Parts: sequence; structure tokens; C-alpha cells
Amino acid sequence: MTKGELLYEGKAKKLYATDDPALCIMEYKDELTAFNALKKATMAGKGKLNNLVSSKIFEHLSALGFPTHFIRRLDELNQLVKRVTIVPLELVVRNLTTGSICKRLGVQEGMRLPRPLVEFYLKNDALGDPLVLEDHALLFGWATEEELKQMKKLALDVNKALSELFEKLNIFLVDFKLEFGKDRDGNLVIADEVSPDTCRLWDRTSGDRLDKDRFRKDMGNVLEAYEEIWRRLEEMKA
Ligand code: UDP
Repeated sequence: MTKGELLYEGKAKKLYATDDPALCIMEYKDELTAFNALKKATMAGKGKLNNLVSSKIFEHLSALGFPTHFIRRLDELNQLVKRVTIVPLELVVRNLTTGSICKRLGVQEGMRLPRPLVEFYLKNDALGDPLVLEDHALLFGWATEEELKQMKKLALDVNKALSELFEKLNIFLVDFKLEFGKDRDGNLVIADEVSPDTCRLWDRTSGDRLDKDRFRKDMGNVLEAYEEIWRRLEEMKA
């Protein structure tokens, strides 16, 4: 499978066409961004780690029967994925309060929620990905009622599956972001990546942050934390 035209370049990945119109190659970059790209850095090895972690997580989700865009990891930086049209919404699932929800709503940090919360954000860099209501998505045509229902259910089911997976690694899944795409037949699939860039992952014993918050908050040892996630995931198969 060879790379064709560059279709899209985002903050952390590039997407290429292939000779098969139904498939794309997703290449991971070493760039790290936070706060809507106001903070940027390059970290050699980050792309490789996110490719490994995200591939493993998508393999796990596919094995559980979740519909995803993932086909296989090709090499250090590249994955073969289904070509989809991305739904312009990001779904965030939270099990505990931290990050933007505390700033936005003034709620206490570190509150365990009685049940997982699903939020919708509009994918729009110029607007800083604002929080939106399901009704906004419906009325402005970003998704149908059925798609919203399906995405919400998938997000909650993924939360359950990944919380269980990470619990086995002594990690608490605090929150994460999911993106969805529609394939040629209009079926919704989980797309993009699931990695320490897009999840908050806390060691259950020490409380250590093993995710992008180390970069957001200048805590140091960013790459080491990503490596630790990969090490625990890889060990699981033994
Ligand atoms: N997240 C993401 N991409 C975004 C915004 C959020 O992957 O554009 C993830 C983030 O890593 C965290 C969760 O979604 O795991 C919730 O993020 P939050 O809304 O707290 O935003 P933040 O304060 O991290 O920007």
C-alpha cells in the first residue's frame, strides 16, 4: 500500500490517499499541541508511541465488535484506515471532573461523577472547538438524531470497554475524546486516534498523570509517560 495525495494535515497527523479509493493512510507526527494549538512542541518519538498505543486500542475495540475505521498498523508511523467523512463533532466522555469542565462550570476538580458524562464539541479550530448542544448539531445539520443517539451509545460503550482495559493496567481512565466518521455506506465508525494525546490516564496507585496533561501543565517526562502506557499495554499480552 503506497501513499498518494496528501488529503489533510492536522496538528498531530497527516492523511494520505491510497490507490484504493476506500482506504487512507494516517501518518502520526511528533508534534504536540495544547490549548487549541497556542502551545506547541515537537517531541521525537511521540508519533511512533501514539501509533502503537492507538493501534492496540483500536484492535481491542474491533475485537469487541465496535465499528472502527482502523484496518492495520503499517509501520512505525503509519496506519491503514477506511476512508470516511468525519462528523464535525468531538465527543468527550468524563468519569471524573478535571480540565475544561472545571474552568467552564466552576465545578470542583477531581469529583468522581455518579455516571459518565458525554459532551459534544464542534470541530472548529477558528472557534476553539466550542461546547455545543445536541440540538445545535441537529438544527445545523452536523448529525442526525439517529447518529447522535448512536454516537452517544458508542461513546459510553467505549468508555466501559476502555475503563476495564485500563483498570487491568492499574490506570484510571479519567476522560477521553472520540471522533466518528461515516463510511461510503453511511455507517458510523469510530475514527481518528485514542492515545495519551486524547485521553487522561492516571496511575491508580500513585495518581501519576500518564498523558498529555504532562505537556499542558509543564510537568516534564512527557515521552516517558507515553512509553509507560505502551509498556503496560504491551505487557498485557504476556
Ligand atoms: N481532548 C482531545 N482533543 C481536544 C479536546 C479534548 O483529545 O480537542 C481530550 C483531552 O485530552 C481530555 C478530554 O478530551 O482527555 C477532555 O478534555 P477537556 O475538555 O478537559 O479539554 P482540555 O482542558 O484538555 O483542553
